[in-house]
Amino acid sequence: MNYYEFWTRLDEISLGEMFKKMMEDPTLAACKKRHNAIDMVKITKLAWTPYKGMNTLLVRALAQSKQKDGSVHEYTPLVEFKKVQYVKDATYAPKYLPNIAVISAVMQQGGSPEPVAFYKLQRDKTDVLVRCQCEDYKWTFSSHNKAAGALFGGAYKKPKPQGLKPSPNPNKIEGMCKHILKLFKVLEKTGIFA
Ligand SMILES: [Zn+2]
Repeated sequence: MNYYEFWTRLDEISLGEMFKKMMEDPTLAACKKRHNAIDMVKITKLAWTPYKGMNTLLVRALAQSKQKDGSVHEYTPLVEFKKVQYVKDATYAPKYLPNIAVISAVMQQGGSPEPVAFYKLQRDKTDVLVRCQCEDYKWTFSSHNKAAGALFGGAYKKPKPQGLKPSPNPNKIEGMCKHILKLFKVLEKTGIFA
């Protein structure tokens, strides 16, 4: 590991950087397929958990993925945005300001949803942590995301070696499965990005 790699590995990674890296890596040609496959994924639930004291925003989703045989698999992809700048009193946060996003979140157990406002997130600057429990995410990306500081939660256990199968990600590129990609596509429409 050279000096540059050392620092970039310690660095955090934004959504935009992660997306660019995985789309540009020649060995991850399946990425384009992965990206095209997001139409088969439906996000049926979205839960916002703002941690104002920690300046993070956790978004959990329920993703239903239609299989070729017609069956449906369910996954719970999630993303945590870091260094979110919350607006103190969302009641007075003018929704119409172009740089402010307002979401509706339950802030305490049993409470009803209330508006939460923050400065819109930047695709290329806001650092993210991501996680999904599908096989593609676990074995193609999770350990490389962990090395880049972009894995939410603990590492997955190493899978049993599968014979001489080549690694799906020889260049150890950080990335996202189709469920996380679809989650971001849905998030685009919520207006949280600048
Ligand atoms: Zn997934």
